[in-house]
Amino acid sequence: MHWMTAKLIALNRAETLLAHDLLKLSQLAFAAQVKALREELPADLLAAYERVRTEHNDPIVGVFQRTCGGCHWPLTAGLLASLDEEKQSCFCPHCGRFIYRAGGQNLVAHPRFHDSSQTEKP
Ligand SMILES: [Zn+2]
Repeated sequence: MHWMTAKLIALNRAETLLAHDLLKLSQLAFAAQVKALREELPADLLAAYERVRTEHNDPIVGVFQRTCGGCHWPLTAGLLASLDEEKQSCFCPHCGRFIYRAGGQNLVAHPRFHDSSQTEKP
């Protein structure tokens, strides 16, 4: 493909996206998602999330080889067991970030991980 043709394709794609105002639509979709998620989560958890988020750019991190994915300090066996039980949200006692087991878990299949903006199929 000639480079000018490639540039024309890119130009047409960008102008089409501008014409449809997709950025504005995306913003509205994300705003709706934020609203729905905030309504689903308990207030104390949201408050903790806001606090951690002001301190760290990555407020929710995975656990890798028994260490926090944020500060890399080792986690106790008790905390790792709590993570595996999945009865509550867990956080790192060293840096305060929320932590989760990285890999092996299918969050989408989790009953609490439903996007409320989507309707159930009949
Ligand atoms: Zn940490």
